[in-house]
Amino acid sequence: MNIQRKHSGSDLTIFSEMSQLAQQHQAINISQGFPDYEIDPKLKKLLSQATENNFNQYAPLQGNPLLIDNLVAFNKNRVLPLTIEKEEITIVPGATYAIYTALATILQPGDEVIVFDPCYDSYVPAIEMNGGKPIFVQLNEKFELNWDEFKNAISPKTKAIIINSPNNPSGKIWSKESINQFWEVIKNTDIIVISDEVYDLLVYDKAIFHSAFHHPELKKRCFSIFSFGKMFHITGWKIGYIVASEELSIAFRKVHQYLTFCVNAPAQQALAQYLEIFDQKKNTELMQSKRDYFWDMMQETPFELQRPAQGSYFQTGNFKTIKPNMSDKEFAIWLTTEKKVATIPVSAFYHDQKNTGNIRFCFAKREEVIEQAVKNMKNL
Ligand code: PMP
Ligand code: GLN
Repeated sequence: MNIQRKHSGSDLTIFSEMSQLAQQHQAINISQGFPDYEIDPKLKKLLSQATENNFNQYAPLQGNPLLIDNLVAFNKNRVLPLTIEKEEITIVPGATYAIYTALATILQPGDEVIVFDPCYDSYVPAIEMNGGKPIFVQLNEKFELNWDEFKNAISPKTKAIIINSPNNPSGKIWSKESINQFWEVIKNTDIIVISDEVYDLLVYDKAIFHSAFHHPELKKRCFSIFSFGKMFHITGWKIGYIVASEELSIAFRKVHQYLTFCVNAPAQQALAQYLEIFDQKKNTELMQSKRDYFWDMMQETPFELQRPAQGSYFQTGNFKTIKPNMSDKEFAIWLTTEKKVATIPVSAFYHDQKNTGNIRFCFAKREEVIEQAVKNMKNL
């Protein structure tokens, strides 16, 4: 059979690869981004109740109406309130799907889509599978954007730009000023922005999350994408929501209805009810303590860490004083097989797999797991 792949992504994502390697070598897995601790038992109960209460058939295409209502209220109650109309929300089977489908909604063959390099690994394959051409703008070593290079990357063929804050892998977040500056660059174009905001609730040190949808003008031209997987520590549920103007939402649903039509009904009902009792303060405290614990513990290792993550559950660290001659992939494999700690090489987030000298750690893990990982990494 001659099946030609339509994207340039690797055959097995780095997250699966490193998790498999961790399992094979019985290494502590702080590579793939998923929590290893108990979720809120109330959420488990709501899911089983939802099936008991017969939420077992197709949900409406846009999503469970109670979930949509409660998302409107939830967004209004953010530290920085976000006003969203019901018509601007669509429930989706995860953020990865939402990014793909937003691209499928807007792209014509040959359209260019700007991505900031490094970026999450699904963006480029999703662009390519939808006939688009990724245009890369390199961030510097501190993961900062050179605004002139960004401006120069925009062409008459630029259809969209994908942004991601809080960011995976860098842990950085966009300030209100950066979003304003970003808007200034694109305001005289028709470019649509796909804003991956899945780590919206995971921000630290009292930082405030700014959505692209907070911006009074940008909101007319963006898709903001959220994931309950990250919000409520349930990555396996694969469910989220996408926010866009009514016009863009209608266009999105015209594609969505043929890709999946609707999303897991009991999960939607459980999430709708959970939003009414969810304690965001407790959630923030939990993640802040994990970020702090990880940061403090890592000081006992020879890794160089630039600064504590501002958001997400990732921290990058430099290993050049430990194994200066290894590539980051070689180092990540060595650390897994020899020291029994699995991490992600940051090169995996670059389109050319450029060697970075950095690996990414996930700190959404139990304290004893972090403690053991650090123990193994102390004397490298
Ligand atoms: N975007 C980013 C930046 C992520 O880290 C992830 C994590 N998996 C996703 C999207 C995908 O989210 P989901 O599991 O909801 O598809
Ligand atoms: N988003 C997760 C991470 O960055 C991985 C998800 C996946 O396995 N594709 O670790």
